[in-house]
Amino acid sequence: NMASPALLMRVVASAYSVAEKAATIVRNVMAAGDLGIVEKTGANDLQTKADRLVQMSICASLARKFPKVTIIGEEELSTDEVTEELIEDGHCEEILKKTCPAQYTGIKEEELVIWVDPLDGTKEYTEGLLDHVTVLIGIAYGGKAIAGVINQPYYNYESGADAVLGRTIWGVLGIGAFGFQLTEAPAGKHIIVTTRSHSSTLVNDCISALNPDSVIRVGGAGNKIIQLIEGKASAYVFASPGCKKWDTCAPEAILHAVGGKITDIHGNSFQYNKEVKHMNSAGVLATLRNYDYYASRIPNTVKQSLVP
Ligand code: AMP
Ligand code: MG
Ligand code: MG
Repeated sequence: NMASPALLMRVVASAYSVAEKAATIVRNVMAAGDLGIVEKTGANDLQTKADRLVQMSICASLARKFPKVTIIGEEELSTDEVTEELIEDGHCEEILKKTCPAQYTGIKEEELVIWVDPLDGTKEYTEGLLDHVTVLIGIAYGGKAIAGVINQPYYNYESGADAVLGRTIWGVLGIGAFGFQLTEAPAGKHIIVTTRSHSSTLVNDCISALNPDSVIRVGGAGNKIIQLIEGKASAYVFASPGCKKWDTCAPEAILHAVGGKITDIHGNSFQYNKEVKHMNSAGVLATLRNYDYYASRIPNTVKQSLVP
């Protein structure tokens, strides 16, 4: 008589399948060709039909299974009835087979907060930079990001017709992270990954002060954490407000599950309780290894410009 799996593992297992459904929606909207682009705060802050449909799909699917969990999504939810074809009811069996870390076995639904970025890298999605796009589902408990799912709908899209399109990365603190090959960045090189569509003088001044060997400019917070865990970049540096809790929650859980670190530019950890303000006003600093090297070199002038 097997005990039923812990709530956290059931939530992660469902989030995995919900993120795969989301990826299908992202690809279908692009394939249909009508993106339905809406400007939110301006031309660099966009929403497409995919952002809207995926937000409805993820939030409604998870709310149906876990009605007492707090779910906070990036997009304003329309009050329309969610059509049944947007609901995903499945889960990943492999995740349910993992043992829940002891400190999380007693978690109740009302203690979880799920942060949803239905489509991270929207600007890049509209510009055809499709592998920058991710779907982010982050799970927080006690104000901490403890588990997350990152789906990359267009992973491998330039690798030819034989390559499997898309992938799902997931992780839980105390278990690890799966769905990719953990790789260290080249030793002794300082490769910085940062924004491509939300740059500013401050963003660039901060990077220059770190004297990098090279700078990779790509869209998406999820995509930039993938660059870190696959050894493409040694630090994610973004000295600007603009990034929100739904951008960092899932990436943070996965990065921390493999021993990395993410904070604001001052070194403060992010909080993910439901009352927290959404904006990460003091930017982002993340690494898989050598966090202190980068943190110690952020100029005070930059820090003074970014109030948490
Ligand atoms: P980026 O690295 O530019 O792709 O930004 C990572 C995430 O933060 C994305 O979800 C962006 O939409 C968001 N973001 C960063 N800066 C801004 C900004 N100035 N305005 C709106 N969203 C932003
Ligand atoms: Mg985002
Ligand atoms: Mg988004």
